[in-house]
Amino acid sequence: MRIELLNTPPVDAQENRLEEQIRPLRMEDFTGQQRLTDNLKVFISAAKMRGEALDHVLLSGPPGLGKTTLAYIIASEMGSSIKSTSGPMLDKAGNLAGLLTGLQRGDVLFIDEIHRMPPAVEEYLYSAMEDFRIDIMLDSGPSARAVQLRIEPFTLVGATTRSGLLTSPLRARFGINSRFDYYPPEFLELIVIRASGILGIGLDGEAAAEIAGRSRGTPRIANRLLRRARDFAQVEGIAVINRAIAMKTLDSLEIDEEGLDDMDKKIMETIVNKFNGGPVGVASLAVSVGEEQDTIEEVYEPYLIQAGYLARTPRGRVATRQAMIRFSTGLQSNEYHLFDA
Ligand code: ADP
Repeated sequence: MRIELLNTPPVDAQENRLEEQIRPLRMEDFTGQQRLTDNLKVFISAAKMRGEALDHVLLSGPPGLGKTTLAYIIASEMGSSIKSTSGPMLDKAGNLAGLLTGLQRGDVLFIDEIHRMPPAVEEYLYSAMEDFRIDIMLDSGPSARAVQLRIEPFTLVGATTRSGLLTSPLRARFGINSRFDYYPPEFLELIVIRASGILGIGLDGEAAAEIAGRSRGTPRIANRLLRRARDFAQVEGIAVINRAIAMKTLDSLEIDEEGLDDMDKKIMETIVNKFNGGPVGVASLAVSVGEEQDTIEEVYEPYLIQAGYLARTPRGRVATRQAMIRFSTGLQSNEYHLFDA
């Protein structure tokens, strides 16, 4: 498979390299999300039998659950090349046109954070997705004219952490719409065991279970905790990460037994204690905890909602009864407006 990475934003290089090393490249190494992958396998086989490009695929869900990984696997299973970019990087329609005209038949174009694509670029994508043609403007001013260009049939794989922000015309153009769920601990356990094998890290079963149980249902976090545990083991001169090392790592990183980190706790404590359990608007919440509103909505809230601590209501964010009991400092819980999720 030929892989081209276009406009990839710089991330922590070392962490990024390790992440690439353990990224599954074949469907059989992709753990969990069974229903989603079973369906995709059928659609991929059918498209291959017909000798057609796979229909456009939308992958949605919180960060770190394997959307990028699956986009690459789709290309590899289709026997196609993949070009990868992201919504914010496509700031001009011309950039997109360049990418689209460079695609070969059946290629995958992966657009990460597709909800952050500028509207003008998005509209440009419609005819490309639907009819495999694009309109290019030649010249400007009075001599300007539009020329229609055919492009090769391709598969757009879009990934988004905020499917609710996608416009309906764009959403309607995806034939396959797959939603990722958080992973149960037993799958995360398999994922860290596999990663430890690839990275040559000694890890015993109890430690794997401990890390898996505190990873917020997210493979990227599980793999990151594994690497931090390796650091602790190395400094202590221990060859195999055991439960004690895993616990020490998790405690040092202030990750509690449910996998909640500092910011999760700060968000919940703020809603419960400062805003009397809510409702509170996400903008005020963001200011109070000193975090970007987008990050709260994309990263923290989905997990806190699924953990049963937070609810979204039309009037704002509200702490559940369970959150009131756990995060309250001082006041009796019956002094709050109690909300049952
Ligand atoms: P996203 O694009 O959703 O933010 P990624 O595809 O970049 O997430 O996944 C983050 C990391 O987690 C990858 O490096 C990969 O190693 C690991 N990962 C994600 N999903 C799986 C999975 N189902 N099985 C094994 N590893 C996974």
